Amino acid sequence: MEVFEREARALDEAIRDFLAWKGLGVSCRAGCFACCYGWVTASRLEAEALLPHLTEAQRARVRAEGQARLALLKEAKDDPRFPERFFLLKRPCPLLEGGLCGVYPHRPLACRGVLTDEDPGYCQPGNPHPAPKAHHGPGHYLKVPHRMARMAMERLWEEEGRRYGFVLLGELSGLLYLLEEGLLSSREETEARLGALGVLGGRFGYQIV
Ligand code: SF4
Repeated sequence: MEVFEREARALDEAIRDFLAWKGLGVSCRAGCFACCYGWVTASRLEAEALLPHLTEAQRARVRAEGQARLALLKEAKDDPRFPERFFLLKRPCPLLEGGLCGVYPHRPLACRGVLTDEDPGYCQPGNPHPAPKAHHGPGHYLKVPHRMARMAMERLWEEEGRRYGFVLLGELSGLLYLLEEGLLSSREETEARLGALGVLGGRFGYQIV
């Protein structure tokens, strides 16, 4: 099993065990997708693991949306409110199909750690929970699954660093588009490509570590 699949499976199991231990029921359901309006960040290894599973239709949507998001990012990567503003646009992830994740078994780690036990109405853009509880954060999302996902990501970054000599992080559909087009290779070439696109660095741009 590849390292991403291993981490993803371990994360799903750890979250399931945590929820059972705490007796927490989540309100997330199939067909509930407001979190898929968010700005999802993934690593190169996550995107590479996902790419072979995309259908032709998904690839076409990723190509269009990936390029559109790179253009948005070029203009706004230093805007401190960019993710919040993007969320309000209600621009769905290009992998969302009929209200369901079209790549559910292969979705990034960040998507797996976003869960809530609150009214899903609070997940809608422009409707933040007025008083999240102590076990919530960010916002009304469950704190521990969110942290577990972050830790799984960090383990994957270590592997990516060993494999490529650097770690590349950035918005999911732009990353998938760039990888599919073969536009990211060595550190120097990746830096040059992202720099030329105007999406490297800054507050929310692609990061090379
Ligand atoms: S990959 Fe799937 S779960 Fe994640 S934002 Fe896209 S549609 Fe939603």
